[in-house]
Amino acid sequence: NTFAEIDLGDALNQNIQRCKYVKPTPVQRYAIPISLAGRDLMACAQTGSGKTAAFCFPIISGILREPYAQRPRVARTAYPLALILSPTRELSCQIHDEAKKFSYQTGVKVVVAYGGAPITQQLRELERGVDILVATPGRLVDLLERARVSLQMIRYLALDEADRMLDMGFEPQIRKIVEQMDMPPPGMRQTLLFSATFPKEIQRLASDFLASYIFLAV
Ligand code: AMP
Repeated sequence: NTFAEIDLGDALNQNIQRCKYVKPTPVQRYAIPISLAGRDLMACAQTGSGKTAAFCFPIISGILREPYAQRPRVARTAYPLALILSPTRELSCQIHDEAKKFSYQTGVKVVVAYGGAPITQQLRELERGVDILVATPGRLVDLLERARVSLQMIRYLALDEADRMLDMGFEPQIRKIVEQMDMPPPGMRQTLLFSATFPKEIQRLASDFLASYIFLAV
């Protein structure tokens, strides 16, 4: 009934205390143990439900458990271990801010990339290294085409507000992005799909992107 009882690791638990989170919200209570167990997850969760922490905690905890992933050194190409896709600049920045607080002093590096803003600063950030990339689909496709990001090392993929991303017409970009992750050994990637609604189109994404997954509605 408290975060201390969930095995997230000391560093992350300290940051959770620092954020003054004591009790998991319902979506966190169920989603976090499922994710920590390595299962793929499709969760119906609304804004304000605490979904950001629900996907950030298992990702950060997982990276901290295996922090020294050997990444290729290709000039100017970033190799994130986790990707969080979200529909808008505003949401991406919110997720980035929260993820940074959760990773405070852990060495886990979080970078955000979104469209509608100059790419130069984002490229500079990416060059300094990235573990968790928070991105909007369009800008990420741009970065992939420029070979400034590779998804070859992705172990965790979270899709936030998936229904909204589809409403905004991002399905082709999302499919293109996920296709690039299917090159490395299948089963290496864990996928967490969050959506406020669960229409046919989202069900299809879930069955295309997720390995035998757990469905959670809170
Ligand atoms: P979200 O649904 O992820 O946008 O979160 C909504 C708000 O609730 C954010 O301001 C979070 O910082 C806050 N929050 C999330 N989880 C908890 C928690 N377990 N305890 C207290 N506040 C939380």
